[in-house]
Amino acid sequence: MSEALLIDPQNKFHNDGFAEQPQGWPGLQRNMDPVPDSGEDSYVGTGRLTGRKALVTGGDSGIGRAAAIAFAREGAQVAINYHPREQADADDLKAVFEKDGATLVQLPGDLTDEAFTRSLVQRAVEELGGLDILVNNAGYQQAQMSIADISDEQFDRTMKTNVYAMFWLSKAAAAVMKPGSTIINTASVNSFNPVEELLDYATTKGAIEVFTKGLAKQLASKGIRVNAVAPGPVWTPLQISGGQLPGKVAKFGQDTPIGRAGQPVELGGLYVTLAEEKNSFTTGSVIGANGGTGVI
Ligand code: NAD
Ligand code: MG
Repeated sequence: MSEALLIDPQNKFHNDGFAEQPQGWPGLQRNMDPVPDSGEDSYVGTGRLTGRKALVTGGDSGIGRAAAIAFAREGAQVAINYHPREQADADDLKAVFEKDGATLVQLPGDLTDEAFTRSLVQRAVEELGGLDILVNNAGYQQAQMSIADISDEQFDRTMKTNVYAMFWLSKAAAAVMKPGSTIINTASVNSFNPVEELLDYATTKGAIEVFTKGLAKQLASKGIRVNAVAPGPVWTPLQISGGQLPGKVAKFGQDTPIGRAGQPVELGGLYVTLAEEKNSFTTGSVIGANGGTGVI
């Protein structure tokens, strides 16, 4: 019998500080140091999602990219949405798919644009020949020290991106999904314990957590499961494009019990778990991935 592969999670990934590296919104993963690990070279699938059809928002980078890679390597066909300014990251991901012999469907567009977002599910259905996994993962996060610094424009955009787009997409998806389909939202530790400089963002993350549980109740009778993943600090473009106050990136994630920030690849498998048919009794649930902070 061969030895079990044991890896200490404390030093499995970069566990030092990070250099300050501000980028303008939305930030590109390819320009980060270190480049976040979304599983490009490591995620190995075993056919857990064979034949499934998935749309992932914010799929060009970070956590959404990890979900997209994991889904594809588990046998699903994948479409991603991203902001047009992120074409370079989306093209890098397309190359990763092509190296695997897979096809990535790119559906760029601004999720704060109601008409575009309302049409996105139908476009994914046409490109994929159906849809049975929707991942509402796109998010907007701009840190501000005080409520006085949160403009109406920022508040509105955070709501539109994180809450309205999830509502528009879930509504459209629920109308076309067959029994056995699933919706997965990306919540946050902020859904349960708001970081003070993320007041508007945390408010939307609380809404996502409640929306997940409420929609799960509604859609159970249609055979559609609805769940969420609630990450703690994960090294992604969101954090270096305004998501953290200046000076906070240096020790990002080091205050977790594990002592480091998470990498997106550490979450990809959670989206697979929530999507796969085997876990058919899990709906209305939120799974945490936060390095042990105990928030969820
Ligand atoms: P990320 O920057 O890689 O992903 C966020 C994505 O949101 C972007 O790639 C972009 O495609 C999308 N997006 C934002 N505004 C958009 C718009 N108007 N139109 C289209 N797309 C838009 O960062 P990430 O950390 O992987 O974020 C993914 C999700 O994870 C977000 O919902 C975020 O709130 C959540 N989250 C992240 C962390 C963390 O520490 N990184 C922690 C908890 C929750
Ligand atoms: Mg991105």
